[in-house]
Amino acid sequence: MRGLLEDGAAMLGAGAAALDVVQRMVAGLEACGFHIAGKGSAPNAAGEWELDAAIMDGATRKAGAAAALRGFLSPIGVARAVMEKTPHVLLVGAGAEAFAAEHGFARVDDPSTYYTPATLRAVKPGELAHGTVGAVARDVSGRLAAATSTGGLIRKVPGRVGDTPIIGAGTWADQRCAVSCTGQGELFIRANVAADVSARMLYARLSLHAAAAGALADMQALGGDGGLIAVDADGNVATPFVSEGMKRGIATSAGVRDVRTFR
Ligand code: ASP
Repeated sequence: MRGLLEDGAAMLGAGAAALDVVQRMVAGLEACGFHIAGKGSAPNAAGEWELDAAIMDGATRKAGAAAALRGFLSPIGVARAVMEKTPHVLLVGAGAEAFAAEHGFARVDDPSTYYTPATLRAVKPGELAHGTVGAVARDVSGRLAAATSTGGLIRKVPGRVGDTPIIGAGTWADQRCAVSCTGQGELFIRANVAADVSARMLYARLSLHAAAAGALADMQALGGDGGLIAVDADGNVATPFVSEGMKRGIATSAGVRDVRTFR
């Protein structure tokens, strides 16, 4: 994560668009195999890997997502292509796979040897064990972007889609803030957490920190846990979580580098 942060900071320092930076960060996290996303994804209850991802450009409010996607190395790349090469926002399952194949995305040759589940710990039936990767960025022009990618809940029901590819629930970016969430997706969908951060800033005139904490508390009150990373148009950063820990890293143009798991 530290290495990726340096790459992202260098890209932003050289004038790269926030959108390109969040995609690069998430692609790096997908490829590393340390998180339940991309290579680290765990299989669903049928022993198959179905991955979700979304990306959103705050400057244009364009968004793209892929859900229950099987057999491709970088779901976030597919999400970006959905945004740029179709008039749609979300493609799922077989349709998403046909689209990814048509656009030449690299495939997973053999799922049984490629994936190295980031956690193999036993999950009790009904337990919502999970892991997700995400990135948010503000670039030198003040544009914001968010990207999120996940293998979803461990041993989820085939066809289950979480909050990650649902724009507004797990991923959001506009001119006020960019937000990427992790946690029990069902609760994040029901609380519409990511877009709620922006709504609280707009309607209640809250700071990013207060808006993020409020949106997360609303989700927690429904019985979920998790956290989010967010950045606003002034470059403020919030990384609240109501889970035991949340792996996270911050890099700023002032030279701040901060990587943590717990408080
Ligand atoms: N939110 C993801 C999902 O429910 C999982 C996670 O964040 O770890 O699919």
